[in-house]
Amino acid sequence: MSKTAIVDIDNTLWQFSDAFYRELKKINEHFPSPADWRRYDIWEGYCSLATFREAIGRVHHDQDSDRHQPYPEARAFLRSLRAQGFYVIIASHRSPETLPPTEKWLMRHGLDYDELHLSFDKTVLFSRAAVVVDDSPATLEKAVAGGVLGTGLLFPWNRACAGNGFRLFENLDEVRDYILEVNPGR
Ligand SMILES: [Mg+2]
Repeated sequence: MSKTAIVDIDNTLWQFSDAFYRELKKINEHFPSPADWRRYDIWEGYCSLATFREAIGRVHHDQDSDRHQPYPEARAFLRSLRAQGFYVIIASHRSPETLPPTEKWLMRHGLDYDELHLSFDKTVLFSRAAVVVDDSPATLEKAVAGGVLGTGLLFPWNRACAGNGFRLFENLDEVRDYILEVNPGR
C-alpha cells in the first residue's frame, strides 16, 4: 500500500495571505497586515465573519490569476514526494465550486498530485495519511493526535504552536528534507 501525503494549498503551496490581505483592505483599510495575524479570528473588530468568508471565496474563485504564483519550491516539493513513493492528495479548505480555477492553477504551474480534495473538512482524509503538510495549527494538531506526522511552513499565526507535536520550517525544501528524514508510513 502506498504512503499518503496530504498537502494543503493556501500558505503551503503559495502565499495566500498576501492575496487575502489585498481583499481585506478593500473591506476595511485598517485590517492588520499578515505579519500581525496571530490568531484565527482576525476579522473581529474589522468586518463580519460572513464578509471575511466572502473575501476568502473571492481569492479562491480567482485562484488562476496571474498574480497568484506558487512558492518557487512548490513544484519540486510535490515531485520529490511522489518520486519517494508518496500518494499525494492536495487538500484545501475551500468550496468544491472552486474546483475549475484550482485545477487550472495547479496544472498551469506543474503542481503534480494524485488526488484533489476541496471541502471544509480535510480531516476525513487523515486516517489514510502518513504525513499532513499544512499551516493551520488546528489541522496539524488533529493530524498529530491521530498519529500522523505533521509539518508545514512557519507563520506568525502558527509560530506559538510549533512545539505542539509538529515541526514548522522556513521553506518547502526544509519541509521536504524533514519528511524524507522521518520517512513516515514506510
Ligand atoms: Mg493553509
